[in-house]
Amino acid sequence: MSIEKFSLEKVLSVHRWTNTLFSFTLTRPAHFKFTAGQFARIGLMVGEELVVRAYSVVSSPFDETLEFFSIVVPDGAFTSNLQHLKVGDELYLEKNPYGYLTLARYQLPLPQDLWLLGTGTGLAPFLSMLQDFETWQNYQHIHLVYSVRTESELAYVERIQEIAESFGEGHAGFKFIPIITRDPQAALHDRLPVLIENGELEKFAGLEFNPASTHIMLCGNPQMVEDTKEALKARGLTMNRRGEGNIAVENYW
Ligand code: NAP
Repeated sequence: MSIEKFSLEKVLSVHRWTNTLFSFTLTRPAHFKFTAGQFARIGLMVGEELVVRAYSVVSSPFDETLEFFSIVVPDGAFTSNLQHLKVGDELYLEKNPYGYLTLARYQLPLPQDLWLLGTGTGLAPFLSMLQDFETWQNYQHIHLVYSVRTESELAYVERIQEIAESFGEGHAGFKFIPIITRDPQAALHDRLPVLIENGELEKFAGLEFNPASTHIMLCGNPQMVEDTKEALKARGLTMNRRGEGNIAVENYW
């Protein structure tokens, strides 16, 4: 890994949601331009070695700083070091962003209904997209569906409401739909593919998937992405290729 590809950035803040979930912000160099939904590659020195991981940017492309949302992977070389991060520390940031989970990839169908389905830290790219006025102008319905194991893992809930107010300005078609899979009392507690197969998600949202009007993005647990993709295909939705089709995905680790 060539270190010239990276710039060294300062940690400006660290917010801990739970023992294993935290967010941090970095200084943003002027050369780092990205589209909402893309990811950055962040590095830290572990001994003599630069270890690098991909992180979707939470911030909007218009922000002056860069925010990221991370889980602590037990015994992971990267995050077990990263979890001790404090303000003033420095991290390596690769100069170019990556990834195709962006709303600009959709040509057909035309934008109408947007579903953003994330598990865990896979929420991150959707927060970036929602901090763009264009997203709110382009879609009649926007449903943000966020699946976590327990209520304490539901990070960013207040921020989501703030974003909806400030960027959505009272957009009538927005719904935030949390799923808490290990709480049988939660309104929605089954896994995403099950909720799609049995129609519960659409019923809860009050909107049906429609191949002629649905854009649907999946981000998070790779097995969730795989199984949810199949459940959606069984409903007649297609993978987005060369601009056409309903489903766009990003595996998160
Ligand atoms: P997770 O296991 O991904 O669970 C988050 C949500 O996704 C839960 O609601 C979970 O439901 C659901 N889910 C899991 N598998 C699913 C599937 N096949 N279909 C549909 N939904 C599914 O939990 P996490 O806390 O985000 O991550 C857990 C572990 O993943 C971490 O400890 C770490 O090892 C690894 N991870 C690694 C990275 C990385 O960058 N290396 C990043 C994130 C996570 P259930 O409650 O039913 O399981």
